[in-house]
Amino acid sequence: MRIGVLTSGGDAPGMNAAVRGAVRAAFALGAEVYVVQEGYAGLVAGGDQIHPCVWGDVSNIMQLGGTSLGTARCAAFRSPDGRRLAVKHAIEKGLSRLLIIGGDGSLTGADVLRSEWPSHVEALLGSGDLVPAQTKGHEQLLVVGAVGSIDNDMWGTDMTIGCDSAMHRIVDAMDTLTSTARSHQRSFVLEVMGRHCGYLALAAAICGAADYVLLPEAPEHDWQKKMGAAIAAGRDRGKRKSLVVLAEGACDVDGEPITAEMVRAAIEAETDVEARITNLGHVQRGGTPSAYDRVMSTVLGTQGAARLMSMAPGAEPLLMTTRGHEVIDKPLMECVRGSKEVARAIAEKRFDDAIEARGTEFAELLQLQRTLVSARDLTVDGGKRLLIAHIGAPAPGMNAAVRAFGRVVADAGHQPLVALEGLHGMLNDQLRPLDWLDTEDIASAGSAVFGTHRWWPQEPHDVVALDAALTRHDIEGVVLVGGFECLRAAAQLQTMGLPVAVVPATISNNLPATDRSLGCDTAENAICEAVDRLKQSAIGSRRRVFVVEVMGRACGYLAAVTGIGTGAETVYTNEEGIDLKRLETDVAALTHSFEEGREVGLVLVADAASDAYDANALSRIYQGEARGRFDTRLCVLGHLQQGGRPAPRDRVAAARLAARAATHVATSSGAVVFGIDGDRIIATPCLQALDAADLEHRRPKTPPHQRLVTYAKDLTDVVVAKSVPTTRRPSLQTPPWAPGHKV
Ligand code: ADP
Repeated sequence: MRIGVLTSGGDAPGMNAAVRGAVRAAFALGAEVYVVQEGYAGLVAGGDQIHPCVWGDVSNIMQLGGTSLGTARCAAFRSPDGRRLAVKHAIEKGLSRLLIIGGDGSLTGADVLRSEWPSHVEALLGSGDLVPAQTKGHEQLLVVGAVGSIDNDMWGTDMTIGCDSAMHRIVDAMDTLTSTARSHQRSFVLEVMGRHCGYLALAAAICGAADYVLLPEAPEHDWQKKMGAAIAAGRDRGKRKSLVVLAEGACDVDGEPITAEMVRAAIEAETDVEARITNLGHVQRGGTPSAYDRVMSTVLGTQGAARLMSMAPGAEPLLMTTRGHEVIDKPLMECVRGSKEVARAIAEKRFDDAIEARGTEFAELLQLQRTLVSARDLTVDGGKRLLIAHIGAPAPGMNAAVRAFGRVVADAGHQPLVALEGLHGMLNDQLRPLDWLDTEDIASAGSAVFGTHRWWPQEPHDVVALDAALTRHDIEGVVLVGGFECLRAAAQLQTMGLPVAVVPATISNNLPATDRSLGCDTAENAICEAVDRLKQSAIGSRRRVFVVEVMGRACGYLAAVTGIGTGAETVYTNEEGIDLKRLETDVAALTHSFEEGREVGLVLVADAASDAYDANALSRIYQGEARGRFDTRLCVLGHLQQGGRPAPRDRVAAARLAARAATHVATSSGAVVFGIDGDRIIATPCLQALDAADLEHRRPKTPPHQRLVTYAKDLTDVVVAKSVPTTRRPSLQTPPWAPGHKV
């Protein structure tokens, strides 16, 4: 069997990972792969633009932005004549199964091509451009799509390829602007992409603590006055900067476009604050793919190729979509129609329909953004006194959780308080009310600015002391942010009759009841960036194997998932264990691949993968067995995985989880842990979550993210295959300066 792979429409970081995954999965499943360069333009042009692909062609591209296959907007493909040429050239190369990675335009084009295919074949046979021997077995086109779009504008999928990387670019810019705006007490209007979809703008507004956001889906009457009032209220409370995020496609309630200049002028008219415009433009499209875009795009590509190969003749086209960590195939045209319906709802000013169609997360973020900005003074009199405290190691996202907690609690008329130095601080009356400015700029800060502590009430006398402290301060509900100990502490607090909510925050992502914990996405990015640097460092010396130790203890999530994102040849986790037999096989395979031309190798080890074979021992074993074919270097990434500014996904999750936790302790009883399940937030009783935990190994008995870890395990074999020859065609656009890691 032969499949074709192409990227089309607007480029998006992560497309390379999808192509690499697809090509290698197809090889592993026994197919041949042809790649089409420059999108549909390559199909229309034919010739060398459609060529066979070998294993090494997709080496060393995953960490690059854009698409190495090239992409284009192709006017010729919009006409039946152009598409007839595309059919001719595809069939000449023996192709009638295509994996297409592009936006809704490209995917619509794919469906048009598919529906016309038989008539074009008939016409091409009639004209003699093709002969029956060529068209046999290619009477119909089979299509699988994956959405490459930084806008996250496709209906039916949680995320699209490139959106998370664009969020990284935007949030970096917001953090940068914030520091200069604060110095000069300035306001900035930040215009971000999203012609029909406000997801980027909305998520950015939450991540970067914007004062106001303008979206295509949610125009407001008198937006100038509302925006001005929000900015003025912030200034009155002592804020030194204001940020307004504008989606490219934002309109007013009459459907009239709102430009950045209009926003700037409105700020200056409504307030006495000077405003500047920053338009991020194509910066948002470019750059290195984020960890999420590397990992999920790889999964989408591999699953997409496998699905394409298993399709029966005449099958409807499919779209590979994501739901949390899961990949689900759906009818392609149903998703495309759903996306077009949202655009129509906006055009017809049915904004509620548009918001609903964007999904649970979008609607929730919109409500949350309004609350975060409008929350009145946080030092409220009356209401309940509600406390937030961290337990355990700091995790990026903890501060964003405190911000959302403070504002949601105050918005509901209650008093938000924060424990200093964790729950332990409470014992010595170390707590204080949160004020508005306290929470203004902390969302972007790493670690835990109010301090954290490992202590939790384990012994009966601890429980008595904590109970006394909470009573002393009239605390009526507690939100705990942290790892495993939060679940245990919550169970204790429950016995005191207090409502408790846990927000999972640990880079190891080892808690039950959630797909992911705060901090793990930041850590995944830190690992991918660090490994990029390591690989880069080997350009001059070559023939090097890096043994990299990552955190996670007995939970192999970080190692397994970043194994996909870094293209590691081998990943060692505690769950799988390490023994001599496995080591022998792994070392032999890697050594053999160096004989075949590999230049850099990567081995990832979770820090508690094995007592006997720790990273140091593994490094020596690989070195000992290399016998001159490569050098081994050990790198323990350590606490750099725990620090740094929180990644966008951690900030967004922190705000959503903490808002739900705040509402729980203000209005309900019992102890629950809030977790992420696809695009929803779910609540699980803490006792039930503890039952689902393997307390000895501090990991879930059945991890909610098991699906991704399973993908990871399969992928390491399928996508990396340690001993495959690594010949590369020079025609693909891998820059000569890119690290020579052939995986
Ligand atoms: P995106 O895929 O990012 O949405 P476009 O909408 O520009 O980007 O589509 C990319 C290409 O897909 C177009 O240049 C064109 O070649 C093809 N295409 C888009 N829409 C159609 C259509 N309705 N019919 C045929 N081809 C289309």
